[in-house]
Amino acid sequence: MPLKEFAERRNILHRKSDAQTVLRHALTDVQIGKVALVSSFGAESVVLLHMISEIDKDTPVIFLDTEMLFDETLAYQRDVSAKLGLTDVRVITPNRNALLTEDVDGLLHQADVDACCDLRKTRPLEDALQDFGGWITGRKQFQGGQRATLPVFEKEGRKIKINPLANWTRDDLQAYMTQHNLPRHPLVAKGYPSIGCMPCTTRVSDHEDQRAGRWRDSEKTECGIHFDTETPMTQGQTA
Ligand code: SF4
Repeated sequence: MPLKEFAERRNILHRKSDAQTVLRHALTDVQIGKVALVSSFGAESVVLLHMISEIDKDTPVIFLDTEMLFDETLAYQRDVSAKLGLTDVRVITPNRNALLTEDVDGLLHQADVDACCDLRKTRPLEDALQDFGGWITGRKQFQGGQRATLPVFEKEGRKIKINPLANWTRDDLQAYMTQHNLPRHPLVAKGYPSIGCMPCTTRVSDHEDQRAGRWRDSEKTECGIHFDTETPMTQGQTA
């Protein structure tokens, strides 16, 4: 079955499912194959991380350390992983040789944000996901832009992407974090409702969009990790 049709069928099957049901199915769906959670350990990441920890603590969790992150994010990643008992958190960093040839002084983000994201995010993630048939993201429709019509299951390249929180609201996320007494990213209380790399993230004011502080004054709204890839299909994945 073509992947696009497969994703559409899964969306129909799970049109009334809650996020935990979607996750449980996705993690054991032999037609998708191996599935990883890709987490930024950002402002709302702890919701999916907590759900995953309750389903299977051995689920691979991929964390992209671009080497441009806030110290608070690195500390939060370690704290949350330990608190939730996650056993397979994979910290992925940019390729050393590529950094030396393409961004030796760490200033590429000032000249070309797309090239910098490609070097520090897209390519490392593409490598990290090679053996996986699908990956889970924490994107939500309320974040707007390209995410406004986000489905729960989608085809991207030759992989299935699962967005269990696609239909969640900001209030749903806050309620879940409160209900489960989950630790918050320390920068949220300091005016950062969306947190990426330090040079490309600013505070937002109350009247602004949640992601307004990302690549401020730039047309860029997405980091580019939602790439289209032609990697070979893995065992168990549908065609
Ligand atoms: S968000 Fe900024 S610093 Fe981070 S990889 Fe992209 S351009 Fe580079």
